[in-house]
Order: sequence, then structure tokens, then C-alpha cells
Amino acid sequence: MDCIFCKIVNKEIPSTIVYEDEEILAFEDVNPVAPVHILVIPKKHIRSLNDLTAEDSELVAKMMLVIQNIAKEKNIADAGYRVVNNCGELGGQAVHHIHFHLLGGREMLWPAG
Ligand code: 5GP
Ligand code: ZN
Repeated sequence: MDCIFCKIVNKEIPSTIVYEDEEILAFEDVNPVAPVHILVIPKKHIRSLNDLTAEDSELVAKMMLVIQNIAKEKNIADAGYRVVNNCGELGGQAVHHIHFHLLGGREMLWPAG
């Protein structure tokens, strides 16, 4: 399968990994839009938020806790941060392997663009 994030999971494409376990990988975004910009993904290929099922509930909850822990490690937890999922074409999803962006280290604007 020609998926950039599966290749990152398989270490076929290098990345700066900030967290890894059996099911989840977190790595720095190659094109950061904030001082902290980390992508948190499941190792198994799931196309988008539209493709999650009830069986993925625990996995998604674990990803949120990974995000919380990374925010603490990066010292952005108290100041605040943003978690983003872009889903589908209008949502601006460019990589079709579900991922959560952890953005922090600067003030975020709202509404999002
Ligand atoms: P999306 O627009 O799909 O929500 O976000 C995809 C993100 O993946 C973008 O922020 C982009 O910079 C990042 N990205 C794309 N290709 C690579 C890559 O090869 N390595 C890393 N570390 N990030 C990537
Ligand atoms: Zn994939």
C-alpha cells in the first residue's frame, strides 16, 4: 500500500519519533506550523475518522492519552494547546491515514481556517 504514514510506521521513511508503543506512533511533523507540531497515529492503517469503528474506541482513547502525555513532556499542557483531525477533502486531509495533530507553543486562532 502506498501510504506515507505506513512507511513511517515501518521505518521505511525516517521520522523524529517522540513516542512509540505496539499500537501507536507519534512523530514530529516535517512541516511544522507551530513550535510544537506532532502527529499521533495508529500503527494500523485507518483511512480517516470516517472509517473508525466501535472496535477502535480503546485505540482512540489511548491516542488521546498519548497526546496528553506528550503535551506534558513538551511543557505546553498548562499553557494550552490544540488537537486537530482533518477529515476528508473539505476537512483538508492530505494524508489518508488517520492522524491527530498536536499543536502548541503559540496562541491558536479561532475560527480555524
Ligand atoms: P493533513 O493535512 O493530512 O491533516 O496533515 C498531514 C501532515 O503530514 C502535514 O502537516 C504534513 O506536513 C505532514 N507530513 C506529510 N508527509 C510527511 C512526512 O513524510 N513526514 C512527516 N514527519 N510529516 C509529514
Ligand atoms: Zn497508512
